[in-house]
Amino acid sequence: MATERTLCIIKPDAVEKKTGGAILALLETAGFSVVALEKTHLSKVVAEGFYAVHKDRPFFGELVTFMTRSPVIIAVLERDDAVAKYRGVMGATDPVKADAGTIRKLFGANVGENAVHGSDSLANAKNEIAYFFAANRVAPTA
Ligand code: GDP
Repeated sequence: MATERTLCIIKPDAVEKKTGGAILALLETAGFSVVALEKTHLSKVVAEGFYAVHKDRPFFGELVTFMTRSPVIIAVLERDDAVAKYRGVMGATDPVKADAGTIRKLFGANVGENAVHGSDSLANAKNEIAYFFAANRVAPTA
C-alpha cells in the first residue's frame, strides 16, 4: 500500500474538552505520523470555504457556527493507505453509530459535534491539506 497523507481536524468540541492530545496519541498508536500541526481559530470565511461542498445541506449554518466557535487543531497525517485507515479509526459521522474504539465513539458527542474531521478521498485530502498548509510548511514526502 502506498504512503499517503490525509487531513485531520480536531474540532472545537474535542479541543474544548482538552481531548486533542489524547486523539493525537491514539492516532500515533494507530500508526500515523503527524507531519504538520497547527492550532488555530477558524474564521467564518475559512470554515465556509472548507465546507463549501455542504453549502446546500440544511445543517450548513449550524456546522459553520460550530466550527468557528472556538479553536481547532489541524494535523496532516501520514502512513500507508492513510485516507481509508484514518476514516476507519475516525468512525461513522454519528458517534452513536460509530464502532467501539473509534475516535468519534470515544470523543464525539452527536452527529454535528463529532470530535474530528477526516478527508474522504485522496484527491480531497490533497486539496484540504493545501487549503490549510502552504507547501513549505509540510515536510516533503520521504
Ligand atoms: P463526515 O465525512 O463523516 O465528516 O460527514 P459529512 O461529510 O457527511 O458531514 C460533514 C460534517 O457535517 C460532519 O462531520 C458533521 O460535523 C456535520 N454534519 C453532518 N450531518 C449533520 C447533521 O445532520 N446535523 C449537523 N448539525 N451537522 C451535521
